[in-house]
Amino acid sequence: PAIVSSKFTSSHARVNQAPAGKRPEFAFIGRSNVGKSSLINMLVQRKELAHTSGTPGKTQLINYYLINESWYLTDLPGYGYAKRSLKTRAKWEDRTEEYFLHRSQMVCAMVLVDSNVPPQTIDLDFINWLGEKGVPFVIVFTKTDRKKARDLANVEAFKQTLLEYWEDLPPVFLTSAVTTDGRDELLTFLDTTLKE
Ligand code: GDP
Repeated sequence: PAIVSSKFTSSHARVNQAPAGKRPEFAFIGRSNVGKSSLINMLVQRKELAHTSGTPGKTQLINYYLINESWYLTDLPGYGYAKRSLKTRAKWEDRTEEYFLHRSQMVCAMVLVDSNVPPQTIDLDFINWLGEKGVPFVIVFTKTDRKKARDLANVEAFKQTLLEYWEDLPPVFLTSAVTTDGRDELLTFLDTTLKE
């Protein structure tokens, strides 16, 4: 599996403005600063297709990237940026909900979780919400090259916490945008899922 082409196509505030047509899409989402832009750039092997922003939570639009002229990688606004007003946050959550509940082209949510911190309520809440709504998803742990991630205790704790709610775990990936660990596994997953 390979990504031979990638290009930014458009940004949208609302799902009903997103591209028409039946191209499948994989949605990348996670807490602000989780390493989403870095992971996307690592996957497509470009320095700045996705913009790493110094101001977490600044990008409130859904960005569409066309991959291999055949499917979309969608880059969703990060959630859980504490400094944002409650009102704006509620709006984000509306948009996010709208996207996952109504975007029929959405094949799988790629939920990014930082492997350097213990399980965070906001990540668990979001994942549990996806599970309750029956939205297909996988978990992509980020920044595994960092010291705090090395023994994977946070990853194990996260899995154990999920198993308190759910019988099975979703597919889990361990990635680093720095070492490119996990890239092949993720690309294989995307490829296999597209062929199903
Ligand atoms: P986003 O807000 O989720 O798009 O996160 P960014 O991709 O902008 O990354 C947030 C911060 O984490 C930046 O300082 C990145 O350099 C850093 N970062 C992202 N991915 C990795 C990684 O895999 N390893 C390490 N060590 N740092 C990372």
